[in-house]
Amino acid sequence: MDLDASAQDDGEARSSSGPATGERISVLVCEHSQVQLRILSQAVIDAGYEVHTARSADEALSLMGLIPIDIFLTGIEVGATSGLEACWALKSNPETETVYTIVVTASGQEKRLEESLDAGADDFIRKPVNMTELRARLRAASRLVRMQKQFRHMAETDALTGAANRRAFMNYLDMQVERAQRQDTPLSVVMIDLDHFKSVNDTYGHAKGDTVLIETVRAVQRGLRERDMLGRLGGEEFAVVLPGASAHAAIDAAERLRRAIEALDIRDDLGERLPVTASLGVTSTEFSGQLETAESLLQVADEALYVAKDTGRNRVICAGEPVEEGLRAVG
Ligand code: GH3
Ligand code: MG
Ligand code: MG
Repeated sequence: MDLDASAQDDGEARSSSGPATGERISVLVCEHSQVQLRILSQAVIDAGYEVHTARSADEALSLMGLIPIDIFLTGIEVGATSGLEACWALKSNPETETVYTIVVTASGQEKRLEESLDAGADDFIRKPVNMTELRARLRAASRLVRMQKQFRHMAETDALTGAANRRAFMNYLDMQVERAQRQDTPLSVVMIDLDHFKSVNDTYGHAKGDTVLIETVRAVQRGLRERDMLGRLGGEEFAVVLPGASAHAAIDAAERLRRAIEALDIRDDLGERLPVTASLGVTSTEFSGQLETAESLLQVADEALYVAKDTGRNRVICAGEPVEEGLRAVG
């Protein structure tokens, strides 16, 4: 990478349509010529985008795996792999298929326009690049990128609580199980189920029950690291994946979460505090070698959770631990 610059203000790239779509749009500019690269990337920086640069398609493709890129702006002749082949590679990979691709065609390459679009380019722009046109095309691309992000966010998020929904959680857990096996690192899972939640609904009403769910998610999320993910698996049942966490670390984390839920201060209309507690089941790949799947981990954590329910609720039980040792002090 020759030039890796960020604009000072995000100008027209700023979104006003909500947190899921408000981040800055990032553009990867790929040109073989140093001069062209500098001119193009400066124009994109001036338009308010976050800019990354590459001198070849291969460099661009390897950067894609490292940093989130929204728009790929590439010339055609950009090294051993052409810009068109790079577009094709992006569109055939589920992880990068949503990257918006714009091909910059030189004069004499008109025939390649059709080829560009066939290769999965979303748009093209002719050289010499007119900067007003470039900015307009980037704005159009940004609108699509934001819309796509918004759809993805909606498809992956539980609407009530903002936690990951079951599908997004399972995808992430699958990915983390695979990574843990590849890197030979531990991974732990915590299942959380609110105690006697039906009676919270029955006593205080469904709306108050919803508040409990929302506040529980907030409390749990406050206690997580960046790589951890909380998912709402259904009703009042949640799970957390803790990549890299040993069983011991996961038990500590679960215990902190249990205390945070117990400490929630949610009141009814008379100012009376609602009793909110949860039972938690923990499991870790440490216990069973490397043959785990997302489903088997959840199942084992669920079994531990049911031991927590059976032995009095508001407690953490770790699978593989003798029940007495697994019990954690209540209150
Ligand atoms: P246990 O301690 O054994 O887990 O008992 P519980 O009452 O929590 O478990 P049960 O499975 O009997 O009840 C779960 C309740 O969660 C029943 C259902 O009405 C409620 N519930 C599920 N989804 C929602 C929701 O989105 N909002 C509200 N307010 N309640 C919900
Ligand atoms: Mg419950
Ligand atoms: Mg339940």
